[in-house]
Amino acid sequence: MKISAAVSRPQTPAPTIETLDLEAPRAGELLVRMSASGICHTDLHAHAGRLSPLPIVLGHEGAGVVEAVGEGVQGFAPGDAVVMSGSSCGDCPNCTSGLPSYCDQAMPRNFGGQRMDGSTAFSAADGAAIHSHFFGQSSFATHSLVPQRSAVKLDPGLSPEVMAPLGCGVITGAGSVIEALRVGAGSSIAIFGVGGVGLSAVMAARLVGAERIVAIDTNPTRLELAMELGATDRFAAETPELVELIRATTGRGVNFTFNTTTSPAVFMSALECLAMRGVAGFVTAPRGDWSPPMFKMLAGGRMLRGILGGDAAPRQFLPRLIRYWSQGRFPFERLIRFYPFTAIAEAFADMAGGRVIKPVLRFN
Ligand SMILES: [Zn+2]
Ligand SMILES: [Zn+2]
Repeated sequence: MKISAAVSRPQTPAPTIETLDLEAPRAGELLVRMSASGICHTDLHAHAGRLSPLPIVLGHEGAGVVEAVGEGVQGFAPGDAVVMSGSSCGDCPNCTSGLPSYCDQAMPRNFGGQRMDGSTAFSAADGAAIHSHFFGQSSFATHSLVPQRSAVKLDPGLSPEVMAPLGCGVITGAGSVIEALRVGAGSSIAIFGVGGVGLSAVMAARLVGAERIVAIDTNPTRLELAMELGATDRFAAETPELVELIRATTGRGVNFTFNTTTSPAVFMSALECLAMRGVAGFVTAPRGDWSPPMFKMLAGGRMLRGILGGDAAPRQFLPRLIRYWSQGRFPFERLIRFYPFTAIAEAFADMAGGRVIKPVLRFN
């Protein structure tokens, strides 16, 4: 079938919308008509050719409606509303332990730009293959093929447009606090960088009853929003003596830090403001060379902890977040700004320039 998709080609500022051919769903796949797709920083990196082969259809925060199912699909039927998350095999030890973001096949399935057999779902007008299956979904398209394990069914009445960002940014922030770090009632956390992931972490920390939730960012508007969403303290990132001030919020340092930035200086601060036995969670790698302060980690029993996908299993965790949202306890819709699909270049530019927290493209 003919569909419209935003294609990332080398040396272009943003994906451009083209008409492509989409195959019929193969075994285990759903044909999804997209309602909306969030844009995440990983899409910006991938568009620049740093993660996946080009040309490719990116997008990994999709939500929409199932139009057809391939052979062997169970639990989905045409008409079902779904939200999508990453791809995983379902059989390896981490998948069977409920940690699909650490699937043994996570890299080829999410970044390989093709099915595991090397085939792709899209082709251009001239017949050339266009890479697909980015995070199992390639959601910058009016229609896409999605492995059934990447989809989570939505209850009737829920708007797929609002649910779109759950699959990456929101699950990463909230899952990191609730599932990975297991921040508990009465504990303290400092969150470095309050964009979509960091603000999801702020809301989750309030939800679990953290006593001190410290937000740090360069952007005063985002710090203001962090306070509205549950932060108890805020600091501008450039504040002198920042580490001492964060430590002083509890008198002994914080139990947890959560770093969404790539700055080596922030990685250092996030370890230095920890209390004894504190854990520094991070979701993106430091830019350039950085050596952790090993003596400080040893002497304080401090831990540096990389986290993918919030350590969360989307089938269980996303419905839980949606229940918190419908109770008014997890208002992630406040992070969203909608753009028409045709304005994808503007949305990319706004994301890169920090002018929007969570851009969501609408397809109708
Ligand atoms: Zn992402
Ligand atoms: Zn697996």
